[in-house]
Amino acid sequence: MSESRTTPDPEPAFVISDLCKTYVTEAGTVKALRGVNLTIERGETLVLLGPSGSGKSTLLNILGGLDAATSGSARFHDLELVGATTTALTLYRRKSVGFIFQFFNLVPSLTARENVALITEIASDPMAPEEALAMVGLSDRMDHFPAQLSGGQQQRVAVARAIAKRPELLLCDEPTGSLDSESGVQVLEALAKVSRDVGATTMVVSHNAGIAAMADRIIRFRDGGITDISANRQKVEPREMTW
Ligand code: ADP
Repeated sequence: MSESRTTPDPEPAFVISDLCKTYVTEAGTVKALRGVNLTIERGETLVLLGPSGSGKSTLLNILGGLDAATSGSARFHDLELVGATTTALTLYRRKSVGFIFQFFNLVPSLTARENVALITEIASDPMAPEEALAMVGLSDRMDHFPAQLSGGQQQRVAVARAIAKRPELLLCDEPTGSLDSESGVQVLEALAKVSRDVGATTMVVSHNAGIAAMADRIIRFRDGGITDISANRQKVEPREMTW
């Protein structure tokens, strides 16, 4: 009898099946997601591309526990997010998810260090705010207020804030959308570094195809569905990217 040499795949971070989201508003019904299927491996970086309105942010918000799906399944290890209670979703977000949005959402009256500390105070095994800020290259800006920092520096504070609780998932929605390309590259460099250092599974939504170069896999969206998934054979460091 031959010895089996197959090793079982490590458990994926997410298994998403037939995920649907319909928004019902006074203006009408919008099918934002029409049956999304995707398995996301632990530690991989996905870039989600597609035209505006194709459902990328909706998927990210559901996976981050910020929005509820209409039907289907999105399983994070043993936790089924579809139909989960508000309390379960709050605990999930607090423990497992770091968010980065297009607009940095820092508290203007708090320093960089204090903005990061806001999150580390409610996390169970956080790194020190100083360590998180050092990881994004802001050791010399810790006591600055947001208004004293450039847009790119503010976004790096947001990256430090997202990562300081060592989340398993890092969800980024247009993280460079309001930055010039040089600041954008610095933010993506910080993102790639912290994501690697804490081993986070990272999803980056963008309408900028240039960002795809940093992905392990590129997921393309159209009309609420995935049209293409491709492995990126030539993953590059953000500093080598141009757009
Ligand atoms: P993308 O991130 O690809 O730009 P979105 O996920 O934001 O796309 O949007 C998908 C569709 O869902 C769009 O038609 C959008 O207008 C609609 N949509 C998103 N959020 C809401 C909401 N809160 N209420 C109603 N419709 C929404």
